Amino acid sequence: MSDCIFCKIANGEIPSATLYEDEKFRVILDLGPASKGHALILPKAHYADIYEIEEDAAASAMVLAKKMASAMTKALGCSGFNIVQNNGTSAGQTVFHFHVHLIPRYDNDQVRLGWTPGKLTDEMRDEIITEVKKQL
Ligand code: 5GP
Ligand code: ZN
Repeated sequence: MSDCIFCKIANGEIPSATLYEDEKFRVILDLGPASKGHALILPKAHYADIYEIEEDAAASAMVLAKKMASAMTKALGCSGFNIVQNNGTSAGQTVFHFHVHLIPRYDNDQVRLGWTPGKLTDEMRDEIITEVKKQL
């Protein structure tokens, strides 16, 4: 993807603050951090989102998220950690190259991730279970 900024960053064409790199991934600091240490896991191959990414790459991304969360927690002294991965504009995705947010959390920080809990009705539960199972 010649016009994808995360392709260029992941493959080193554009410099970035890199925490980790291997054959398949680069982990960089986010330029607009939610908290101290907010980082992004970028695959070097282009996948727009969770729907496009290959299963092996998705699995490897989560293994890397675990490795980074452990190292960053020790290094930064955070007290919690969010792993966030957005798909689609409605879900907050702004860069359409698959990435995983690594967000260290600190007591009384200003990070706001959340929703107002709704209510799962019996009808909705039954409909969702039926429809999703048809697709699996
Ligand atoms: P999304 O909203 O797509 O899940 O996340 C995109 C993230 O990429 C945002 O947190 C934003 O701050 C970050 N970002 C966008 N452009 C750049 C860039 O050029 N360099 C870096 N390091 N982060 C970027
Ligand atoms: Zn890309």
